[in-house]
Amino acid sequence: MIGSVLIANRGEIALRIARGARECGIRSIAVYSEPDRLAPHVLAADEAYCIGPAASAESYLRGDALIDLARRVGAEAIHPGYGFLAERADFARAVEEAGLIFVGPSADTIAAMGDKTEARRRMQDAGVPIVPGLTEALEDTAEAERAAAEIGFPVLLKASAGGGGKGMRVVEEPAELARAFEAASREAVAAFGDGSVYLERYLSKPRHIEIQVLGDAHGNVVHLAERECSIQRRHQKLIEEAPSPVLTPEERAAMGETAVRAAEAVDYRGAGTVEFLYQDGEFFFLEMNTRLQVEHPVTELVTGIDLVEWQFRVASGEALPFGQDDIGIDGHSIECRVTSEDPFGGFLPSTGTVRYLEIPSGPGVRWDGGIVTNGEVGLHYDPLLGKLIVHGPDRSTAIARMRRALDELQIVGVETCVPFHRRVMDEPDFQEGRLTIRYLEQHPDVLEPAASDGGGLAAAVAAALLEERHRSERAPRLGDTGGRPLPAWRSTGWPWNVAR
Ligand code: ADP
Repeated sequence: MIGSVLIANRGEIALRIARGARECGIRSIAVYSEPDRLAPHVLAADEAYCIGPAASAESYLRGDALIDLARRVGAEAIHPGYGFLAERADFARAVEEAGLIFVGPSADTIAAMGDKTEARRRMQDAGVPIVPGLTEALEDTAEAERAAAEIGFPVLLKASAGGGGKGMRVVEEPAELARAFEAASREAVAAFGDGSVYLERYLSKPRHIEIQVLGDAHGNVVHLAERECSIQRRHQKLIEEAPSPVLTPEERAAMGETAVRAAEAVDYRGAGTVEFLYQDGEFFFLEMNTRLQVEHPVTELVTGIDLVEWQFRVASGEALPFGQDDIGIDGHSIECRVTSEDPFGGFLPSTGTVRYLEIPSGPGVRWDGGIVTNGEVGLHYDPLLGKLIVHGPDRSTAIARMRRALDELQIVGVETCVPFHRRVMDEPDFQEGRLTIRYLEQHPDVLEPAASDGGGLAAAVAAALLEERHRSERAPRLGDTGGRPLPAWRSTGWPWNVAR
């Protein structure tokens, strides 16, 4: 097993990786931007180093500085988490050229899957069904018109370098195409520095179903079944579950085998996800994410396989000791992404100080969070505060458990999307598993506050406790170091006894 790892990330995922490292006996080295100096991931790691000011471009995205630091502090490996540098092929290459281990697939694999048109070509060659459409970027509007006429409206324009739902435009009819093509290209240049755009058929009512894969450096690849991620807003996932409420065992096997074929076609190593759109029993390759996903915990809870541990083991050169037949699904798991966004105010980001935090517990509940009481929630980073994940013997138990855990979760001081999650858990179509990626369009009521929604007794108690603490509060605010910088420290235990 590798002996040490630098975690090139922040927030809940950096904490998740630090936890995994500790369990594996790996020395963990956190990095942080100035405002993150007392963030949970910093306190959880064995060592932590400041790498710059708040702006990501001057801190978490400084690949060269991170590699330099890793060498100076004797880290053997770098774990990129998700986002930031996780899918930058040039970063993965630079890590390996510096003689360090990149916890993830090879730079060539990342590059092949990072370009949507190249990925589509590679998948088509491997016999993986792709959404009908082009496999090359469009030259001009005239070509877009010809291609769209052939595929049939509506079509979806997509940035070849796209990610995070950016650079996409649905085009319903020919008259809209030229304008949409120009807009998508412009958006792609702004977001990715590459204006290449292609088009594919826009499916009317698909589900987003993705398959977790795990490969080693010895040519073994298995799949860990699916996650259903259809509840999305603007092509961004909000709720995920495993297994999908609709797949039959035969469909699961077929999609799983296809995902393994996709991974093998790019010599996949480590944990990755093959995303599909599923409609009327057919499924089409969407993209492959060459990293750990936000929603990986639901897979961990139903398969019993710790994905971060296996990322470390594979990066250390270990062969997978289990085959496809050893992997089963136990019960049902659901994840709600808890973001600092106001669901009843157009999901506008909210900022502030977390004045009170109550984390749910009890049977079958897991919280992967990145916030602490008195911590600041700003606008510099992703609004994901944490993920509430439940596991139960079946889907209806998992829903009841999530409802209970959402009631227990109290975050005071910043708006969160928790009330939205409560609404979805109570909504009959969700409860019956009738989901498509257009769920929110079809259920605008879940974006309205419920008449009964006051948060219940727990919220009242939280407010009373907060009030009481305000009155007696003498303690300095978290993050207040009297102006002294905290360049690096070694923490002696989990999570609060920090020796500086
Ligand atoms: P990104 O890389 O930006 O996340 P994806 O290709 O993964 O983009 O698509 C993100 C989401 O957009 C999907 O989960 C789905 O909701 C929607 N989407 C993408 N392609 C299509 C399509 N051809 N038809 C309908 N919806 C689509």
